[in-house]
Amino acid sequence: MKVKSPLEIYKLLPQTNCGECGFDTCMSFAAHILDRSAKIEDCKPLVEQAKKSKKVAEKLKKLKEMTAPEIDEVIIGKDLKIGGEEVLHRHELTFFNPTALFFDVSDIMDEKTIDERCSRVVEYKKFYVGRYLTLDGIAVRSVSNNPDKFAEVVKKVSGYGKPIVLISLNPDCIKKALDFVTNPLIYAANEENWKEMLKIAKKNKVPVVVRSKDLDMLKSLAATFKKYEVPVVLDPVTEPAGRGLQKTFERVIQIRRTAILGQDKDINCPIMVTPISAWAMKADEIAKIYWETVIASLFIVKYADIMILHSLEPHTIMPIVTLRANIYTDPRTPVQVEPGLRAINNPDRNSPVLITTNFALTYYTVESDLQSSGASGWLLVLDTGGLGVEVSVAGGQFTPEKVKQLMEETKVAEKVDHRYLVIPGLAARLQGALEDEIGWKVLVGPTDSGRLKAWLEENWPPKKEIKN
Ligand code: SF4
Repeated sequence: MKVKSPLEIYKLLPQTNCGECGFDTCMSFAAHILDRSAKIEDCKPLVEQAKKSKKVAEKLKKLKEMTAPEIDEVIIGKDLKIGGEEVLHRHELTFFNPTALFFDVSDIMDEKTIDERCSRVVEYKKFYVGRYLTLDGIAVRSVSNNPDKFAEVVKKVSGYGKPIVLISLNPDCIKKALDFVTNPLIYAANEENWKEMLKIAKKNKVPVVVRSKDLDMLKSLAATFKKYEVPVVLDPVTEPAGRGLQKTFERVIQIRRTAILGQDKDINCPIMVTPISAWAMKADEIAKIYWETVIASLFIVKYADIMILHSLEPHTIMPIVTLRANIYTDPRTPVQVEPGLRAINNPDRNSPVLITTNFALTYYTVESDLQSSGASGWLLVLDTGGLGVEVSVAGGQFTPEKVKQLMEETKVAEKVDHRYLVIPGLAARLQGALEDEIGWKVLVGPTDSGRLKAWLEENWPPKKEIKN
């Protein structure tokens, strides 16, 4: 994004503070544009005025240019975004769109295999730090080079509802398949077929991968397609092993550095890497899977926006999706879980009510300590903006008022016959104020949830004398 201050954006906004964008003021909206939590199009008055006034239309155009990401954002299918990055290193801001993971099927696979592979992509779900990690799409490869056969498989695969990459260097195969799928990514235009592929992309308004190991050729192809407003993805060709892999890595780094540091608008496109290339190696299956996983991991870290893979083995997918989740976690926002009330180990009306914060690490530690202790309980999860107990008590995110509000919202009083709340030891200083606010007796639990089991054994049900 060229712009560095919200003031530069504010100057081009209507400045009426009408609130239609969901923010109280135009300046607040400008600040959210800057951190990409809002879009220019959310200012409806500006968009409407631009339809009637040339001057406003120019302002809108300028705003869009100023706030466009450094790397183009390309959409595949209905709404899968790739690219759109601003920085080379996550700690400089954040990365926005996680590497999209596509798994192949080919038009010479039998129906059962195609169905099994598509189902696996659709159904894959791994719970990790409060959310589900999933796979993104299916890449259909034309191996037969027969347009009818390819189109038939594309039609079948599109029934699974996932974004699709169409893989064929034969423009006739691509043309035919486009009748059966909405907004796929076309793979690939190269030195030989680019004229035909450009015609197809323009006519169907679909994004295209341009492919070449020669970076001058890659840039030239990208510039040509961009001139006709075709969204472009770059494939600098993935060589799977040895010196070839090293060269691939160097090409990817060079492209991204030139795009961001060199402000080269011809190649500021998302990058595709194809770990599936490992399957072309002369090696046994285990070695191919190993290299595919290594290549995918390497380029999730630097700078693949989309990948084509083959292995659907858990030992390939699990490390890749976990690594991707960590690389693409926003360092500006603590990892959080949903606030609310959780029932642990089938609690009843006599079970203790405990409270913790919605910082993911705190929550999962407390939840798992409680689960493994075998004790049952009602666990209130307070929205502290993802901060831990000690910090949120000190910073004013863990307050008696907020606890009262959470208890009212979750109606926890209706679930138990007692009126005791167990707070973390690190929130001990709130004990008195909390009792005044909520009208319950507040018990101070251990500072470390690892000691919850012993603490509950000693202190629950409450006796007259409560030991802290
Ligand atoms: S909708 Fe536009 S004019 Fe209204 S407050 Fe938001 S930015 Fe300002």
